[in-house]
Amino acid sequence: MHELSIIYNVLEIAKEHAINNAISRVNKIVINIGEFCALQEDSLNFAFKNLSKDSLCEEAVLVIEKKDAQAYCKSCNYIFKIDLKHKVCPICKQFSHDITTGYEILVASIEGDSDETI
Ligand SMILES: [Zn+2]
Repeated sequence: MHELSIIYNVLEIAKEHAINNAISRVNKIVINIGEFCALQEDSLNFAFKNLSKDSLCEEAVLVIEKKDAQAYCKSCNYIFKIDLKHKVCPICKQFSHDITTGYEILVASIEGDSDETI
């Protein structure tokens, strides 16, 4: 399952970030996913629940933000929104192979608490 390995990597990034910033408990992880990534949100959440168990990300909320796919037109220097069927520049009507966003998967932000004093 593709989602599992993605979440595994997200958690690795979150743990490293937590260690570097003296965070003892991660509260929130925001990830950006391009709309062309064929990922199931349910599977991502399921993988997150399972893989974050017994880690400092256990209590964290996973926020999944979908990002529009865009392409760049070389002829007129224009960046436009595309979908899987429509990759034609709206200005000059040229087909663009230059997809700038849509396939990316990245960790946008990680929030957490440093050591609690009780
Ligand atoms: Zn164009």
